[in-house]
Amino acid sequence: MSNVQKQLDKILPLVEKPARYIGGELNCVIKEPAPDMLRFAFCFPDTYEIGMSYVGMQLLYYLVNKEEKLWCERVFAPAEDMAEQMQKNGVFLFTLESKTPVRECDVLGFTLQYELGYTNVLLCLKEAGIPLLSSERSEDDPIIIAGGPCSFNLEPLADFIDIVLVGDGETQLVKLLELIRQCKLKGLKKKDILEEALSVPGVYIPSFYECEYDENGRYLRHRKLNEKAPGRVLRDFVSDLNDVDYPDKTLVPLIEIVHDRPSVEIFRGCTRGCRFCQAGMNYRPVRERKKERIVEIAKSQLLDSGAGELSVLSLSTSDYSDFEPLALDLMDYCLPRQIGISLPSLRMDNFAFRILDEMQGVRKSGLTFACEAGTQRLRDVINKNITEDHIFKTLDQAMDMGWQSVKLYFMIGLPTETYEDLDGIVDLSARIMQLAKSKGKRFNVNVSVSNFVPKPQTVFQWVAQNTSEEFEKKHFYLKDRLRPIKGVSYKYHGSYQSKLEAVFARGDRRLCKTMLTAFEKYGCRFDAWTEGFKEEAWEKALAETGIDDTYFALNELDPSDPQPWEIIDNGVSHEFYVRDYKKALAAETTPDCRQGCQGCGINQHTECPMCGSLS
Ligand code: SF4
Repeated sequence: MSNVQKQLDKILPLVEKPARYIGGELNCVIKEPAPDMLRFAFCFPDTYEIGMSYVGMQLLYYLVNKEEKLWCERVFAPAEDMAEQMQKNGVFLFTLESKTPVRECDVLGFTLQYELGYTNVLLCLKEAGIPLLSSERSEDDPIIIAGGPCSFNLEPLADFIDIVLVGDGETQLVKLLELIRQCKLKGLKKKDILEEALSVPGVYIPSFYECEYDENGRYLRHRKLNEKAPGRVLRDFVSDLNDVDYPDKTLVPLIEIVHDRPSVEIFRGCTRGCRFCQAGMNYRPVRERKKERIVEIAKSQLLDSGAGELSVLSLSTSDYSDFEPLALDLMDYCLPRQIGISLPSLRMDNFAFRILDEMQGVRKSGLTFACEAGTQRLRDVINKNITEDHIFKTLDQAMDMGWQSVKLYFMIGLPTETYEDLDGIVDLSARIMQLAKSKGKRFNVNVSVSNFVPKPQTVFQWVAQNTSEEFEKKHFYLKDRLRPIKGVSYKYHGSYQSKLEAVFARGDRRLCKTMLTAFEKYGCRFDAWTEGFKEEAWEKALAETGIDDTYFALNELDPSDPQPWEIIDNGVSHEFYVRDYKKALAAETTPDCRQGCQGCGINQHTECPMCGSLS
C-alpha cells in the first residue's frame, strides 16, 4: 500500500483549512495492516466540517473498528482548492488515518444523507482515480457501497454503486464487510462477491436488475438480470437499540465543525406520522435506548472529549418515554460542570421550560416551532400536531421568563395549499408581535420558509411539486407582507435547488446519465451548497440527457402506478400510504401511534413496541 503523506506535506500549506485533511484526532483508530485484513474507506461526500458532525459516521466507525480484521478509515470530499492541488500534484483521494489512496482499499462506502450530495460521490470517485461507472471498474478497484437515508431510492446513482445497504447500518455493515473479507480471502471475483452479499439483509444490488419503461417513457418495473436477486429488498431493522453497541468515546475534531459536541441518540423512529416526513416512515417503529445507558454514554463521551456541550438526538425529544428522569439525570451531571445540553425538537411544556431555564440561565437562546403550515386546516392536511393555542401559551410563558425571540419553520407548496394558508403565516407572526407589545417585551420572530419536496416512501410521495415560478411568487408574496411587520425577519430557500432535490428524490436510473453530464461536462458538485450552485449547468445537463424534470418533480403521480423506489420495501404498506393520503386530502388527521395502532404495516416485519404486536 502506498502513502501520500510526502505529497501532502507539500500541498497542505497551500490550501484553506489544512486540518480537514490531516487526521490524527483523539480516538482516531490506527491499525497495523495485515494481508487478511479488509480495508474500508468510509466516505461522507462533503467537507470535513459537515461529515464529522454526522453521528452515524462516528457510530459505524466505532463498530467496524471493534473488529480485529476490519479497518475503517475516514474520507471526506476535498474542497475545490484541495482538489485542484491534488490534481496538480498527482495525489489521489486518500484516507485520513493512514493516508492510503482510497483506490487501494478493498471497499469504499458512501453515506448519503441528502440528494444534492450525489455529484460529490462522482467527485470522490474521480479524485480517487476510480472509474465512475461500476461496469468500467476492474477487479482491482474497490467495491463501492452506499447507505444512509437516500438508500430508499438510489436509482439516480444505480450505475455507480455496486451494493446499496438499506436500513440500520449497525448490524448490516459489519456483516457485509466481514463477508467481503471472507470472499476476498477465498479469491472470489467481484460478480460472485455481489451474489454472496445478497445473504446480508437489506442488500440491494442495482446491477442485478434492469428497468423497463412504457412507450411514453413511464417507469414500469425492475426486471431481474440475476435470478438470485429478490423481487423487493426489505430494509433491515435493529429491533432493540439496547442490543447494539454505541461508542463511549468519539472522534474529537481538530477544527470547529457544524455540530461540535458529543451526541447520544435516545431513540429511533417517530410515532407522529407527519405526512411529508421521510424519516418518520423509514425509521419505524420507535425503538428507545435505556435511560441508564444513555446517561452512561453521555458521561463517558463528555469525560473523554472534554466537550462543553452535549446533544441528545431523536426525531422528537419529548416523546422519549422516560424523558423527565433522563433530563434530570443529565442536568445533575452537566450543570455543576458548566456543560450545556442541547435538546432539539423539544415540545415546550412546564417541565421543558423549567429545564431550559435552569440550563440557559439568563442567556436565553431562541425558541423554535416547526409549524410547517400557516393554518390549522393545512396543518391537519399534513398531520402536523401543533396548534396555535399551544404556540401562544408557550410564547406567553417564554416572554415572561425572558426569551426574546422565536424561530418559526414553515414549508410552502404543500398539497391543497392556498394563499389563505400563506396569509396564516403572516397573521401568526403579526399576532406574536402584538402579544409581545401588549406585554411590553422586546421580541423578534424569525420566519424560515422551505419549499416542499415530495419524497418517496412518504404519504405525500405522489404529490406534484410547485413549479419554480409558483415558489418564487409565494416567497415574494410572503416577503411583501412580512416586511412591514416590525420585529419579523424572513428567510427562504432557493426554488431551483428544491426542484432538483425532487427530481433526484423521485428519479429513476435514467438520471445516471444526467449526473455524469452535469459532473463531467459542466463541473457540477457541492450542489447542496448555495454558493457555487450551477442552475444553468443543471438545466443544460437535464435537457441534453432528455430528462423532463416535469415528469419527476411536477407531475402528480397515480398511487396505482408502479414507482422505481418500490424496489425497496421500508416495511410500511402501500395500503397505509393510500389510506392516509386520502385522509390528508380530506384534511383528516391520523392520531399518534401512542394513542393506538394506525395499521401502518411495519408490524408485519418486526415487533412494534408501540402496539406490542408482530402480526
Ligand atoms: S404498527 Fe401501529 S403502532 Fe406500530 S408504528 Fe405502525 S401504526 Fe404505529
